[in-house]
Amino acid sequence: MSKPDIAPPPLRNDCFALPAGVSWTPVDKALALLRDRLSVVMGAETVPLAQAAGRILAADVYAQRSNPPQANTAVDGYGFAGPVPDGPHVMPLQDGRAAAGVPFDGQLAPGHAIRILTGAALPDGVDTVILEEDVTVQDGHIAFRGPLKQGANTRNAGEDVVGGDLALPAGRRLTPADLALLSATGAGDLLVRKALRVAVLSTGDELVEAGEVAEPGQIYDANRPMLLALIQRMGFQPLDMGRVADDRETLRERLNEAAKEADVVLTSGGASAGDEDHVSALLRQAGAMQEWRIALKPGRPLALGIWDGVPVFGLPGNPVAALVCTLIFARPALGLMAGEGWRDPQGFDLPAAFDKRKKPGRREYLRARIRDGKAEVFTSEGSGRISGLSWAEGLVEIEDGARHIQPGDLVRFIPYGSFGI
Ligand code: AMP
Ligand code: MG
Repeated sequence: MSKPDIAPPPLRNDCFALPAGVSWTPVDKALALLRDRLSVVMGAETVPLAQAAGRILAADVYAQRSNPPQANTAVDGYGFAGPVPDGPHVMPLQDGRAAAGVPFDGQLAPGHAIRILTGAALPDGVDTVILEEDVTVQDGHIAFRGPLKQGANTRNAGEDVVGGDLALPAGRRLTPADLALLSATGAGDLLVRKALRVAVLSTGDELVEAGEVAEPGQIYDANRPMLLALIQRMGFQPLDMGRVADDRETLRERLNEAAKEADVVLTSGGASAGDEDHVSALLRQAGAMQEWRIALKPGRPLALGIWDGVPVFGLPGNPVAALVCTLIFARPALGLMAGEGWRDPQGFDLPAAFDKRKKPGRREYLRARIRDGKAEVFTSEGSGRISGLSWAEGLVEIEDGARHIQPGDLVRFIPYGSFGI
């Protein structure tokens, strides 16, 4: 039988070229829109300081006292009134001593010295301390060699933080070191934001749960464990809403549940405009939908909508795109809703250990890591290559325009740690 003479479509010499007539939103514009349209959604609660690591301050915290609260000695030694000039000195020792937490209450007699231990408040009459290793003690006297500047080996009251000054601003996500600062300056209970609850939901007929038996044609749900762990690591509260088949009614019900229990919903899969793309279809029906065709690789499509008043990030199904969209778009947006303000991930420039020609028109993120001070990228850019996500320790960001990167050229590396993961 003769075949019909049908001409195939002409080959496109660049299958990644942006379709004509379609407007693509640049990454920076998409981020600016998110930043503009979202705001903090969480109330506050009081927690003891010792349980506040990783929480977000809901109010400025002012130092209730100075650090250090009083002038004290930085070393173990002998205190006296300085300065002392060059040459040998002998001073009578006054009875008593000053130790941390056990101050010397008296007044040091002029020309005398007194035993003093690290952290002790300087007694009246002491403003200078000599290290015990530099002193000979004999017959109730000390002998040592000058010169010594006035104030040597001491710390001034408030030289670190002055009482009444801002210790940490609202929006700060508290680090272990922050707890030290707040303790030292007199804070007790802290007013922090309630944790942002982030629901995570996978969609797709093909998905089975990790560890279960997969039939031919099925794949394991790789996104959900990743997204739940990302949310946890970023300091939000993950809420596992399971998997949904490509069925509109089931998905509708699950979104209803998620919107009841969470402050924001992340779905993966079904976010483009195909027959089985029910996330975008439902969000479109709900009326508050932005189909953002973001000029980003890997990434498109990202469906953003409001479901029962709750923002929904419809992430792409491809795990690489799902991760990149979560880090680049969801991370700062969630931070804003959670009360930390908008935080751009901080990267730094490193010489490239690779060669790459990039076309203009969209921003690219490559799975990358640092070895020997250079940025390496994963061999394949395929967005289904989960092994590359695991291999990587961060992303190389390549700006929207065209670029030919050659080994040794500087590229911007953003470590995963910069996203809080
Ligand atoms: P979709 O966005 O639903 O068209 O999915 C795009 C690709 O990502 C398809 O190859 C899906 O099978 C795959 N995919 C979708 N969801 C997941 C998931 N949770 N884990 C792993 N791969 C997925
Ligand atoms: Mg799908």
